Amino acid sequence: MVSRVIPVDPFDLIIFGGTGDLARRKILPGLFRRFCAGQIPSETEIIGAGRSEIGQQGYREFVASAIHEFSKREECSICGLNEFLELLDYISLDAQGERGWADLAARLHPGRLRAFYFSVGPSLFGDLAERLAGGGLTDAGSRIVVEKPFGHDLESAQALNAALAARFNERQIYRIDHYLGKETVQNLMAVRFGNMLFEPLWNSQYVDHIQITVAERVGVAGRAAFYEKAGAMRDMVQNHLMQLLCLIAMEPPAKFEPDTVRDEKLKVIRALDPVEPHHIVRGQYTAAEGVASYREDVDNPRSRTESFIALKCHLSNWRWAGTPFYLRTGKRLRARDSQITVVFKDAPHSIFGPEAGRHRNELRIKLQPDEGITLKVTIKDPGPGGMRLVDVPLDMSFAEALGSDADAPDAYERLIMDVIRGNQTLFMRDDEVEAAWAWTDPVIRGWESRGDAPKPYDAYSAGPDDAAMLIRRDGREWREIGS
Ligand code: NAP
Repeated sequence: MVSRVIPVDPFDLIIFGGTGDLARRKILPGLFRRFCAGQIPSETEIIGAGRSEIGQQGYREFVASAIHEFSKREECSICGLNEFLELLDYISLDAQGERGWADLAARLHPGRLRAFYFSVGPSLFGDLAERLAGGGLTDAGSRIVVEKPFGHDLESAQALNAALAARFNERQIYRIDHYLGKETVQNLMAVRFGNMLFEPLWNSQYVDHIQITVAERVGVAGRAAFYEKAGAMRDMVQNHLMQLLCLIAMEPPAKFEPDTVRDEKLKVIRALDPVEPHHIVRGQYTAAEGVASYREDVDNPRSRTESFIALKCHLSNWRWAGTPFYLRTGKRLRARDSQITVVFKDAPHSIFGPEAGRHRNELRIKLQPDEGITLKVTIKDPGPGGMRLVDVPLDMSFAEALGSDADAPDAYERLIMDVIRGNQTLFMRDDEVEAAWAWTDPVIRGWESRGDAPKPYDAYSAGPDDAAMLIRRDGREWREIGS
């Protein structure tokens, strides 16, 4: 099934940090794909900005090489790469100085939508907002896109929000969490709110528990300095896992509109109980299978930063009271695997007797590597003899059901085009970000004040044994990573 493409009007997109890693790997290849798909008109202007003096030609070469490296080969040959490069310009400017700003102002087209992508460290967000709005480069329709990390605690997030709010109103600010741009994450809403089947069962009366796992095989090399200060709680739980939790647990919004959806997500975060210290397991990977330990990767033999976290939490609201949510994320785990599993309760009575064993329905939502949704149902084991039961998956792999995903936009493409179309549904609002930090901060402060050290776990394992015990104590098991 080929995705429907609705072209947008020509726009000006300025990428601060246009020579950075994120621009190279995600933003520019994503824009190229949308151009190839016919969504971005050729009058559009994309301006990379950074301090380096590489000039327009140098930037076009940089972008061409990024596209060759990070786009599928066939895309580069079938689509007009040269035509895309024509859209590109580069301006050397300093976010914290005078240099380059007049050049940028001269390049912008009057009357066009302007989007400014802050693909730079958060310490520059305030300067950029000030220079843009103070220098008259924006109007009421202009938009800014900001990247994570959005603060490292509540106080810093509030300060960032205040710095942006001083110059832009909330409707102009797009805080990216690329997990929300994934096809399956949106499908989660479609499955929940487009079907009659699930919603009546979506509560503590029928759901035993919910597991959210975001496992990565990669270590922290390449991001060591940043990660050592952040850890898994700040880097993953406060944003990505929290957003997934919101989507799985929220009430049906009245409409699929930015503020109605975000209002419901906010209510979920505010309903989260504080996490009990004995419901958290922090881990740190050790050397195994030929890869270095976390401490070697960050070059700190005494590091106490966690590269893994597993926790159990509860929501104090009518729908979910009593249903545990188990969250788990980490680096150097057995497989790259992001999934949410909704485990339903046992049938109230088994007519097949105890020998039929325990069978539970499960809805599994896979985010990566292969996006899809599976419903596990119980049927009779085929063949003669007694009534034996087996669990089989009703599989909805998107690649199979909806054709090749080659045409489907990836998360960044979708989100950038949402910015241009002015749709904030999949972006975090200021109060959501702050509520997530307000829940995360005491957890972090708790282990800092106790001086807790993370538990070691072998690289490429499923994490520390204590994480298995966290859920096993409750008579449950994690779904296997990579299954
Ligand atoms: P990066 O590779 O270090 O690039 C930083 C960019 O900012 C460069 O283009 C740099 O260009 C520019 N820059 C730095 N100081 C500047 C200044 N004073 N004025 C103007 N430009 C300046 O960083 P990145 O990995 O692309 O990450 C950018 C942001 O996205 C960060 O906040 C990061 O946490 C976030 N993020 C990154 C990823 C990722 O996969 N990389 C994923 C999620 C979020 P010059 O040196 O030429 O000035």
